[in-house]
Amino acid sequence: MKLDVGVIGATGMVGQQFISRLANHPFFNVAWLAASERSEGKSYADAAPWRLATPMPDVCRGKTVEACTPGKGPKVIFSALDAKAADVLEQEFAAAGHIVLSNARSHRMDPLVPLLIPEVNADHLAILPEQRRVKGWKGGVITNPNCATIVLAMALAPLRQFTICRVSVTTMQAVSGAGYPGVPSLDILGNVVPYIGGGEEEKIETETLKILGADGGRQPYPAIVSAQVNRVPVIDGHTMTVSVELKDAPSVDRVIDALRTFRGRPQELNLPTAPVPAIVVMNEINRPQPRLDADLGNGMAVSVGRVRACPVLTHKFVALGHNTIRGAAGASVLNAELMHSEGIL
Ligand code: NAP
Repeated sequence: MKLDVGVIGATGMVGQQFISRLANHPFFNVAWLAASERSEGKSYADAAPWRLATPMPDVCRGKTVEACTPGKGPKVIFSALDAKAADVLEQEFAAAGHIVLSNARSHRMDPLVPLLIPEVNADHLAILPEQRRVKGWKGGVITNPNCATIVLAMALAPLRQFTICRVSVTTMQAVSGAGYPGVPSLDILGNVVPYIGGGEEEKIETETLKILGADGGRQPYPAIVSAQVNRVPVIDGHTMTVSVELKDAPSVDRVIDALRTFRGRPQELNLPTAPVPAIVVMNEINRPQPRLDADLGNGMAVSVGRVRACPVLTHKFVALGHNTIRGAAGASVLNAELMHSEGIL
């Protein structure tokens, strides 16, 4: 029997990815959709201006979009809410007994909220009972990282064995990362914008260390991350160039081997949307590229290429991931699959 789930913020860019990825999911059944007052009472087809290349799933087309009322809807809720709305609503849903799997930045750095990447820190779920006790919530909040952070953290996770000291990352981020309608076309066409609002650089610098850290993320990984972000005229897929200092100074071949053989709980448990391999190491000198590689592993794999020695730090490479799938809805769905398989939902 499938577990009923709801989606709040169901009409937006990430909400649509949720609908698309949950439509024929073997564990979950989308039973409830909610969004803002603008959409309330409309059919999903009327409320959600569909932006994905795959058709809107028929099961959702005629469903009525409801108000985001805590206590209504199923126990398990996927949240694609705008951060301002998520600040208050996600806590209210958790207090009312829902398990909220959130994409918003609102609770990511809360020391009692897991910032989960199932391949990297599945053990961070162990703080959930403490979250419930301290916050007095009957349910809970589990977050997934910022869409650029998740790509970086996935690529760095296999390198922890060599002791990461310093990381310098420069991102080239797709316009879909800004939601719809996002960046005005006259600002981005034929252009690069060297700034992304909402504390994007700080998110990459802090979230990465929480994810790679210990004690449920309360003990950040002892490295330094410096991020510079750019918005580029790409539709989907965040690309980044990364330089890293590894204390053990392994050979390039050992770094490549660590990336290529990286697996985590989702691969061990054979979860439905777990990418195999989790990291695709590319041999071509000019890859990964967003148009060619963002969809690898159904958008869930991170691809890495151009692994080589760095004359300033020790190693450098290029990493890429799909921002609205691995960086958002797909990440939450994988989190839920892990929790379902571990008997936590
Ligand atoms: P979006 O396209 O602007 O969608 C926002 C959604 O939130 C819509 O469904 C909207 O409903 C709903 N909403 C807004 N205010 C609300 C309110 N007061 N009450 C109830 N619902 C409200 O944004 P997005 O790009 O999908 O992003 C959603 C969340 O995911 C954000 O927190 C974002 O930071 C995060 N995120 C996005 C990406 C990405 O690549 N796009 C990646 C990672 C994380 P209406 O349609 O009814 O207005």
